Amino acid sequence: MKDKFKLIATAAAGIEALVGKELRNLGIDCQVENGRAYFSGDQRTIAQTNLWLRTADRVKIIVGEFQAKTFEELFQGIYALDWADYLPIDANFPVAGKSVRSTLYAVSDVQAITKKAIAKKLQAIYHRPESVPLPETGALYQLEVSILKDKVTITLDTTGDSLFKRGYRISKGGAPIKENMAAAIIMLTNWFPDKPFYDPTCGSGTFCIEAALIGMNIAPGFNRDFACERWDWFEQEVFEKVRDEADAQANYDVELDILGCDVDGRMIEAAKANATEAGLPDVIQFKQMRLQDFKTEKEFGVLVSNPPYGDRLLTEAEVTRLYQDMGEVYRPLTTWSKYILTSDLDFEKKYGARATKKRKLYNGALRVDLYQYWGQRPKR
Ligand code: SAH
Repeated sequence: MKDKFKLIATAAAGIEALVGKELRNLGIDCQVENGRAYFSGDQRTIAQTNLWLRTADRVKIIVGEFQAKTFEELFQGIYALDWADYLPIDANFPVAGKSVRSTLYAVSDVQAITKKAIAKKLQAIYHRPESVPLPETGALYQLEVSILKDKVTITLDTTGDSLFKRGYRISKGGAPIKENMAAAIIMLTNWFPDKPFYDPTCGSGTFCIEAALIGMNIAPGFNRDFACERWDWFEQEVFEKVRDEADAQANYDVELDILGCDVDGRMIEAAKANATEAGLPDVIQFKQMRLQDFKTEKEFGVLVSNPPYGDRLLTEAEVTRLYQDMGEVYRPLTTWSKYILTSDLDFEKKYGARATKKRKLYNGALRVDLYQYWGQRPKR
C-alpha cells in the first residue's frame, strides 16, 4: 500500500496563488502554476486538504506521468502503473479525458485505451479472465487522463463533489456565486474578523457565510464527506482525527459583525436557512433592505458585493442606475474598503470613481472584474 502521494489541488484560473497560500498555511510546501498547486503527502494530507482548502476545486492523486505519442506508448505507460495500490477488483473507475497540443488528440480514443489498459492490469493482478468484464459495482474512483504536449498525466480524484459544494447551501437564488470563489474574494480583501463585514446584495448569503467560517476558523468541509472516504484502502481513522482536530481549532466564541442585506425578502429567507444549515444561525445578521438605504456610523468596515449585471433580469438603464446609486451610498464611506464583483466593463464610470485596483476573475464561465476601492487606514 502506498503511503506517499504526489497531489494536485485544482482551482479556477486566477485563484491558484490563493490555494498555494492556503496550503502553506497548513504547513504544506507546494508549487503553483496554471490553475493548480502541486504538493505531496500522505493520507492525512489528503484528508486535511479536502477538509480545509477554502479556495480549491478538488484534490487529486497523480497516479502516473509519462510521455506518449502513440496509442501503444499510452497503453504500456498506463499498464505499467501500480493499479493494485489504488483500485480494488470492484472499483467503479470512469476515465475522463483531455488533450492539449499533443499527437494523441482524439480524446475518446485516449480514454478508451486508458480504460482498457487499467482493466487488463486489474484482471492480471486479481487473476480474472480477460473475457469477463470487471463488475465496477463498488466505490467511485474517478480518473482523468490528460495529455499536454505529449506528456500524459493520470489522476485519481479524492474529493467527489467539487469542494465548492460545502453542503450548507440548501437554498439559492438565480445567480449564486460559488462558495470557493466567495472565500477567495474575501481572502483578497483586507478584512479581519474584528472589522465589520457587509454584503448589500447578499442573495443566498454566500459571502457572509464564508466570512463567518473564516472568522471562526471553521473548516469549510465540516458539513460534507469526500470520495476517498468510501475507498477500501483509505483509513477511516485518518478523517476522524483530522475532523476532531478541526473541531478543536474552531473558535465559536469570536464576536463577528457580519451583515447581509437584499431587496428581495425571499433571498433573506434563503440566506437565513443556509446560515442555519452551516451551523451559524445567530452569527450573521440578515435583513431585507435596499442598498440605497444603507447608513452606518461604523468605520473601517469591508463591503463585498456581487450586484446584478445587465442580463435577463435587469435592463441596461436599471443597471446603470443601480451602480450610480451604489456610488452615491458607498463613496462617502471613506474608511470602508469596497470590493465589487461585476462583468460590467463600464462599472467605474457608472459608480463614479476609479478603482484603486482591478482584478480579473472567472465566476464560472463568466469573466468578471473585482473592482477594489481601498478605504483609509486607521490612524495609529
Ligand atoms: N452573491 C449572491 C448572489 C447575488 S445576486 C449569492 O451568492 O447568492 C444579486 C442580488 O442583488 C439579488 O439577490 C438581488 O435581489 C439583489 N439586489 C438587486 N437590487 C438590489 C438593491 N437595490 N438593493 C439590495 N439588493 C439588490
